[in-house]
Amino acid sequence: MYTHPNPLRVAVIGAGPAGFYTAEALLKAREHVSVDLIDRLPTPFGLVRYGVAPDHQKLKSVTKMYDRTCNDPRVRFLGNVMFGSDLTRDDLLGHYHAVVYSVGAPADRVLGIPGEDLPGSMSATEFVAWYNGHPDYQQVEPPLDVDRVAVIGMGNVAVDVTRILAKSVAELGATDIADHALEHLASSKVRDVIMVGRRGPAQGKFTTKELRELGDLENADIEVDPRELEVDEASLASIEGAAVTKRNLEVLRGFVETPEYGKPRKVHLRFCLSPVEILGSERVEALKLERNRLEVREDGSIAAVPTGEFETWPVGLVLRSVGYRGTALPGVPFDERRSVIPNDAGRVLQRPGGEAVPSEYVAGWIKRGPSGVIGTNKADAMETVQSLLADTPREIDSQSAAPEAVTRLLESRGVEVVDYERWCALDRAEVAAGVAQGRPRVKLTDVNEMLMHCRQSLSTT
Ligand code: NAP
Repeated sequence: MYTHPNPLRVAVIGAGPAGFYTAEALLKAREHVSVDLIDRLPTPFGLVRYGVAPDHQKLKSVTKMYDRTCNDPRVRFLGNVMFGSDLTRDDLLGHYHAVVYSVGAPADRVLGIPGEDLPGSMSATEFVAWYNGHPDYQQVEPPLDVDRVAVIGMGNVAVDVTRILAKSVAELGATDIADHALEHLASSKVRDVIMVGRRGPAQGKFTTKELRELGDLENADIEVDPRELEVDEASLASIEGAAVTKRNLEVLRGFVETPEYGKPRKVHLRFCLSPVEILGSERVEALKLERNRLEVREDGSIAAVPTGEFETWPVGLVLRSVGYRGTALPGVPFDERRSVIPNDAGRVLQRPGGEAVPSEYVAGWIKRGPSGVIGTNKADAMETVQSLLADTPREIDSQSAAPEAVTRLLESRGVEVVDYERWCALDRAEVAAGVAQGRPRVKLTDVNEMLMHCRQSLSTT
């Protein structure tokens, strides 16, 4: 049905890993397909650029594959295009046979405890976006004129922010961390970073490689209380066959044996403690926590149950790292309870468990929730693409389906689209600035500055 001049037109909203894997899966499955990867920022790659820690450059090399996808003539990158205003859902449904939302989970979950709004209490989402140079978070200035920081959560994001707080400026200076963050971190007075889990060591969500790194920091010692590493019987039964958890426990036990070297900073790992109140008058001064015991629920999961035993730590910064959260897109169904777009194998549903909405699909964190590593999005996107290709596509006339129709519409609305060629020029400029400083790149963090670069690169070609 689809031919060279009239290919299947698909809009993918969000050019992060899920968006790229969706495009890749479409290209592999169909010869006559044309994909527009649309992002609100002028830069592609989503969380690979703005989420992956700057000292994990190897993880970022996945962009070489995304590059290949974008260099396929059947794919266009349309950056600096905001869904909902520059292009609405109705616009998309009028110009594409199918639309895939892969916008990730940009918000953060809250603890819901008193004092959470005090200056000095912030989400890891903000902190990560700040040090990674996300244009929306340039102004965030975490108070680092403090001795002690509490990081709430035992996931890989908590490990990332702990590591960044513990590393020296010399170490971070060799990465692509945002300049504003590097400058601010240079004046950090932080000596102790305390990662806190509400459940036990067997329930840590971190992966072993990431956990191990905390014990290998040049600039920080590691401390774990051996009493908190005792694993209860229920947890022992639950980890039967769970290889990652077993390895994590071995690494944690190894930390107990690790001598203290008197390094400038110390990372502490604490378990079975829930924050119940953030204390302070003008800013965060302390964190009150309640000790938990573990209990097996009816469904077999292990829950933290408060014991009524409290402790209070003096801390000047509390970073909650308790998970990301999806947000609703204008006009698109949303499951408020799970903070995802309700779907069945990637087909958008009118409501959870409801009828499918024709021609609309979803991939990545906004489909399944904020879980898994970058590669997890590949199988996730393939499932969505299978659903999309199995369905009867919406009918649109060939004029509306023409790629130029969308770009003309954007032009008429005064949108300055950043295409892949322009992004490549930006990329080259960032990398060149990095070479001069012995860094992978120096990131541009301001959208206007990025657009200016694009205009200049256009005028010189
Ligand atoms: P996560 O893995 O889901 O961890 C969230 C942590 O927050 C858990 O320890 C959870 O404890 C805790 N938590 C939730 N609600 C809480 C509350 N009310 N009070 C106290 N603690 C609470 O989420 P994440 O760290 O944000 O990571 C998101 C995803 O990105 C994960 O799949 C992660 O692996 C991935 N990621 C990967 C890398 C990497 O590969 N290097 C780096 C960063 C992120 P419970 O278990 O008790 O709920």
